[in-house]
Amino acid sequence: KGGQRLDKVLAHMGFGTRNEVKKLVKEGWVTVNGEPVGNPGFHVLPGRDQIEVDGEPVVYRQHIFLMLNKPQGFLSATEDKFAEVVVDLLPPEYRFFHPFPVGRLDKDAEGLLLLTNDGKLAHQLLSPRKHVPKVYYVIISGVVTEADVEAFRRGVILDDGYRTMPAELKILSSGPESRVELTIYEGKYHQVKRMFEAVGKKVVYLKRIAMGPLVLDERLQPGEYRELTEEEIKMLR
Ligand code: URA
Repeated sequence: KGGQRLDKVLAHMGFGTRNEVKKLVKEGWVTVNGEPVGNPGFHVLPGRDQIEVDGEPVVYRQHIFLMLNKPQGFLSATEDKFAEVVVDLLPPEYRFFHPFPVGRLDKDAEGLLLLTNDGKLAHQLLSPRKHVPKVYYVIISGVVTEADVEAFRRGVILDDGYRTMPAELKILSSGPESRVELTIYEGKYHQVKRMFEAVGKKVVYLKRIAMGPLVLDERLQPGEYRELTEEEIKMLR
């Protein structure tokens, strides 16, 4: 029979550590489809089999939503033959749900990455027709000027001839190395880097700080993650 071990499922659903839920099962608190089950290794099909703990139905959660502060050096992917991928940063209790990154950040970029197994939500956020704003904090080698602000507002021509949609560039500090915040409403390949290339400047550091209504939690260090709050999930839907 396929499915998952009962103790594993209960641990994932938040009933305690693997050892704690084993004890729950052995002590007879758990039924599957109305039958008492004392074996923690009993296989169940989550979402199909009706599991109860102490007479209370276990609500199987289908979707998870994680906010990751992506560190540099990781690919925005679920697997790769050679490189480390963002999903490697998650513990097994989250990987259990097969989350995937919603959109991509370059390997050398940092910041907000939403990981979920909700394909419908991902599709909505990534739909080019929705123009979901993405905000980046960028450090540029070169002096960023008001002329760049104006050029980005009008749209710049990328190396492949594509003209970008109006974007908002805010200069935080300008000098040989400049700090800016850029909001774009589309997501072409390497878009931010290529927009600066179009005005003769080089991105040396790139961090996404927001996507749509979702803002990176400043308490998350690179490599750290947390579940979205109910409110954050509501805002995304
Ligand atoms: N633009 C880029 O150039 N890189 C990213 O990772 C995201 C936006």
